Amino acid sequence: MAQRNGAQRGAVKVDRPFSSSALRPSSSFKSRPPPPSNVRRSCPSSLGAADASVSGRVRVAVRLRPRNTEELAADADFADCVELQPELKRLKLRKNNWDSDTYEFDEVLTEFASQKRVYEVVAKPVVESVLDGYNGTVMAYGQTGTGKTFTLGRLGDEDTSARGIMVRAMEDILANISPQTDSILVSYLQLYMEAIQDLLNPANDNISIVEDPKTGDVSLPGATVVEIHEQHSFMELLRLGEAHRVAANTKLNTESSRSHAILMVHIKRSMSGRESDFSSENDTPHLSSTFNPPILRKGKLVIVDLAGSERIHKSGSEGHMLEEAKSINLSLSALGKCINALAENSAHVPVRDSKLTRLLRDSFGGTARTSLIVTIGPSPRHRAETASTILFGQRAMKVENMLKIKE
Ligand code: ADP
Ligand code: MG
Repeated sequence: MAQRNGAQRGAVKVDRPFSSSALRPSSSFKSRPPPPSNVRRSCPSSLGAADASVSGRVRVAVRLRPRNTEELAADADFADCVELQPELKRLKLRKNNWDSDTYEFDEVLTEFASQKRVYEVVAKPVVESVLDGYNGTVMAYGQTGTGKTFTLGRLGDEDTSARGIMVRAMEDILANISPQTDSILVSYLQLYMEAIQDLLNPANDNISIVEDPKTGDVSLPGATVVEIHEQHSFMELLRLGEAHRVAANTKLNTESSRSHAILMVHIKRSMSGRESDFSSENDTPHLSSTFNPPILRKGKLVIVDLAGSERIHKSGSEGHMLEEAKSINLSLSALGKCINALAENSAHVPVRDSKLTRLLRDSFGGTARTSLIVTIGPSPRHRAETASTILFGQRAMKVENMLKIKE
């Protein structure tokens, strides 16, 4: 195995060997060089090079938020709690002035990374898969205030370079479908205290989840579904959803950081007589014969802005706050448990433990492609939260999803 230059002082934690990307080498999460031979592997990986062609593990990027004005002033004398080495895809978490732990991710996005770059490395490969008929999920995990909503949900009305992943994903989808034969259906939901609320119709505040026992597909029959034909109406939908989210949270006397926001985009494509727009590899059937009956290809993109991960530790609170902390604890730790079970190839993945994991069931299972972005802040005061976020991301890097086209 090749020794890479710049071997790090202190512990280097790399949990798994890197293998080539499952689907398309053109994506940003593509094949990576082998790790240096001095790295410590704390867990063996099940994903070897041989099965890389049929499987894709969860891709994990870490993004550092720039210091805000308060941090610039208050922490001026202190170094950031992390040091990023994007070219090595490494992050060093400082333990003290002279020692740090080093972690590797699929992408390491510094405080200078543009929204465009973040979209391209985190979400674009997932959107491409969804257009090809897979289920795809993009999740943001991290402490409140570290940039989850900035990364996913920014509209960029005044400054288009600020547009987040939701807006950019829809632009890409609209640019790549055929309006005559394809359809885009969108729902926007919030999960709070184990109740699913419709952000497009506040009267719908307890939507149930239905799972198809045969296919494992998840549906939400009570949720509002809006057909999208153009970017303008999607932006209106996001604005409406956000307004309802604020109103619902005001009514419940809570903040958005305590609920999970979930955008679902269903794409139905009739593939008759044309090839998949993104298909450059042998990963999809050849569809050019005019004698073939139309093939309906259904993809689902789910974008999840998770509740602030710090709530996990806030169980010291009382009354309603305690119930809320428990509920967030339940859903985020259920997500963590599913990620661990999948990472360890466990026969039992406890998807039924929370509504969040039930909703994401088909993101974990047979047909999914998933990207996780973990967001962190630079402040040394939040070092413990940052460490816990980094560890969550590291575990997720071991999760493997088998890929199948749903037709
Ligand atoms: P979260 O959703 O994780 O609670 P936000 O997305 O609301 O965090 O971000 C908190 C604050 O930090 C916001 O004012 C946001 O504009 C700012 N911010 C977050 N990420 C960045 C970034 N990469 N660049 C500049 N500002 C950012
Ligand atoms: Mg937020």
